[in-house]
This record gives sequence, C-alpha cells and structure tokens, in this order.
Amino acid sequence: MSGRTHARACPERTCLGCRERAAKGDLLRIVEIEGECVPDPRGTLPGRGAYVHPTLVCLDPAVRRRAFNRAYRARGPFDTTALRQYVERAEQPLQ
Ligand SMILES: [Zn+2]
Repeated sequence: MSGRTHARACPERTCLGCRERAAKGDLLRIVEIEGECVPDPRGTLPGRGAYVHPTLVCLDPAVRRRAFNRAYRARGPFDTTALRQYVERAEQPLQ
C-alpha cells in the first residue's frame, strides 16, 4: 500500500487547528454569519469557509489562535459557542 491517493475529485483544505492538509470531506466547513461561526457540514452555506477537523483537539487551538479572524479576513471576535457544541456532539461515539 503506497497510501498515495491523488484523486482530483477530492480537493484538499488545510485544518485551521493542526494546519494539516486533509480531504475536504474529512474537515468541517465553518462559515461566518453575522459574527457567529456556523458549522456547515453539507457545505451548502454561502460565504467564505474555514475548515477544521470536527474535533475539539483542532477546534480549540484554532479559536485560541484566532485563526478564524485570518480565515474570514475579519476582525472578530466570533461567537464559537454553538460551533463548539456541535463539535462536542460530533465527537460523541455513536450509540
Ligand atoms: Zn486538524
């Protein structure tokens, strides 16, 4: 197994938390709407998107570093409360 899969249909994005590139589908798209970071798992919301792995390990440092300010080219601060709750839930193992 070479592990090399360079499928063109699979664009990569950089995670704001760990700075690693990952397939777009593995990352959670987050858009900024009126000062709030809104999770956009289906990728359907308009606007500038930021990408993080859907885990607090990546989300928390991204918020701390104010990576969203850079991603959205806006000053912020952004409300990430609902976003964090979303990621917390997404991290729960399925039961
Ligand atoms: Zn990450």
